[in-house]
Amino acid sequence: MKKRLESYRNIVGDKAIAEIYKKAGYLYGKEIININSTYQGGGVAELLDSLIPLLNDAGADVGWDIFHGNTDFFQITKKFHNALQGAAIDLTDIKKQNYIEATQNFFSYQKINQNLVFVHDPQPLPIISFYKKRQPWIWRCHVDLSNPYPPLFEFLKEFILRYDLVIVSSEKYKKPDLPVKQIVVHPAIDPLSLKNMDLTEKYETKYLHKFGIPCDKPIIAQISRFDRWKDPLGVVEIYKRVKEKVNCRLVLCGNMASDDPEGWDIYEEVKRKANRLIDTGDIILIVQDNNILVNMLQRISSVIIQKSLKEGFGLTVTEAMWKHKPVVASNVGGIPIQIVDRESGLLFDPNDLDGFSDAIVEILKNPEFGERLGNAAHNRVKKHFLITRLVADYLDIAKSLINT
Ligand code: UDP
Repeated sequence: MKKRLESYRNIVGDKAIAEIYKKAGYLYGKEIININSTYQGGGVAELLDSLIPLLNDAGADVGWDIFHGNTDFFQITKKFHNALQGAAIDLTDIKKQNYIEATQNFFSYQKINQNLVFVHDPQPLPIISFYKKRQPWIWRCHVDLSNPYPPLFEFLKEFILRYDLVIVSSEKYKKPDLPVKQIVVHPAIDPLSLKNMDLTEKYETKYLHKFGIPCDKPIIAQISRFDRWKDPLGVVEIYKRVKEKVNCRLVLCGNMASDDPEGWDIYEEVKRKANRLIDTGDIILIVQDNNILVNMLQRISSVIIQKSLKEGFGLTVTEAMWKHKPVVASNVGGIPIQIVDRESGLLFDPNDLDGFSDAIVEILKNPEFGERLGNAAHNRVKKHFLITRLVADYLDIAKSLINT
């Protein structure tokens, strides 16, 4: 069904919607293009999928192009992604060359003549250097940039310096020594998407049955790509500790993003670690790309875990908070922007496995506590992290850069 701003009026009120129409009016006759590297999997695709139709419905003229890479390219950019989040990598000339050549190919098939260009994340970053620049370009970086591997950041600066604006998800990611204007925009979720809309009980039962998830004991879940930074192995370790005190089940659900080649290796590692607990049905691993399944899992779980080691923002946290769930999460990246500790969720150092497991036990034994956290979480998302706010932010940014 076509996404329409009108449908959000009940949730955010008339004023917020009227403001969006007004802001879009400043951009009549101007075209904007977004470029990223995947239509599905991961938070960026999730965001653009709602943001772009709503911007268009508001009256702006906004497109979305996918940068097509091959397997080699995505192997390299995944390493770059890891290095931007702090991992040391072997930055060879071949990797650099491969990266640049793939982006040059994009230039050979894609015209860019819009009035404003948004480039998302490191994969398509270099394309700017192949075009005659006729309009403002924005690099929208969604990853945790607080501590990038210096040789890689130095290399990427060759491209970043050409941009007119860099948008990051947290104040912590700004680089004081980077002479390009940087601003913070917090991501947001779409409360009416299949992933977040209210579900009837009939739907829930159907999906539980379809995916073989019994509800005979409380469920704790982490829903995230199988990725080292999401630390699914750590989640299994935490679950083992929780299980000693409260009988519950762990569900780990992850999709595989087409621009993330490491997923299956991590999945196999998790499977080995969970081992016997999979046979007994105590741990359920699911690899699916299914929005209603994610929605349902977030709703039926008693606790949602997000044990990331790094996290650009963490839309999975926002999604669970919206569904009134107590989230027990790492105090890293964008997560503390969302959760106020002990008010709208619980935060721990990622190494504090006992902290995580004790908190989960506390919520499982005292559901009213979980309910209190979950209600506060919902209100916080409603106030700060819904898609209509992001639509307004994008329109403001576009207006500030396009000469109207
Ligand atoms: N997601 C999903 N299915 C899964 C796992 C994750 O649809 O099995 C979605 C999740 O609901 C969220 C997005 O992928 O919307 C992940 O965004 P996040 O910002 O949490 O992390 P990223 O993957 O971008 O690092």
